[in-house]
Amino acid sequence: MSADDGDPGDQPPARAVGAGRAGARRPIADAVAAKRRAQLVAGLRGFARPDPAGRSVEKAVAGAGGPTTLNSVIAAAVAAAAEERCDLCQTTVPEDHRHLLNLYERRIECVCESCWALRSGDADYRPVGARTLWLGDLELPDDVWASFQIPIGLAFFMESSVAGCVVALYPSPGGATESELHFSSWSRMVELNPILADLEPDIEGLIVNRLSEPPSYVIAPIDRCYALTGTIKANWEGISGGPGVREAVSSFFDELQAQAVAL
Ligand SMILES: [Zn+2]
Ligand SMILES: [Zn+2]
Repeated sequence: MSADDGDPGDQPPARAVGAGRAGARRPIADAVAAKRRAQLVAGLRGFARPDPAGRSVEKAVAGAGGPTTLNSVIAAAVAAAAEERCDLCQTTVPEDHRHLLNLYERRIECVCESCWALRSGDADYRPVGARTLWLGDLELPDDVWASFQIPIGLAFFMESSVAGCVVALYPSPGGATESELHFSSWSRMVELNPILADLEPDIEGLIVNRLSEPPSYVIAPIDRCYALTGTIKANWEGISGGPGVREAVSSFFDELQAQAVAL
């Protein structure tokens, strides 16, 4: 299941990998480039965890036959391409690494432990939220939802200290679409659900999924919120999104629920 670092900002340039000699190595470079493209389309920035698309490329490449040595070369090339680096110092980071929010560029940075320790206090950066709360009985009446004017039943809300208001971001095939909420509609939400008054600005968000039955409501770290929009962008097909999106969204929420504290 993809847990992409959604990136609302600029895409990083594709890293050159396995350019090497032509001939036998060419398909490796192609497969790796395809994998990188899939990740870029997902709106990732140095995303660490393997995604289903990435794995299938890996499998397709590994299953391409040929001598064992070629397969091991391929495996090494794929592993090297999947290796994640700290966005701030370029050192290699493990799959399970920390994230900092670049406050002004609204971008998630994958970081190593030392950059996390050194830069967390910078004015430009914030450590992403740490808690995941599954809100079993959040109240969101239809008229309040309608007042947000969000075209689909899936969005996340965050208080932006830079914009000075609560914004809703909802996924679309082009990435996250953002709209500022009227103060009155969000204050109605907080009145109904006092827990939302504790939502930490910038670093965490409220994810609302009204496509599921019953609807799901989760307070999650902001990198996870953007991951949802990245997942949707990566799996979108055609006009309506197709079955791939529905599946991806439902596994995203299963994973989130498994990590969450239920309230
Ligand atoms: Zn670093
Ligand atoms: Zn990351």
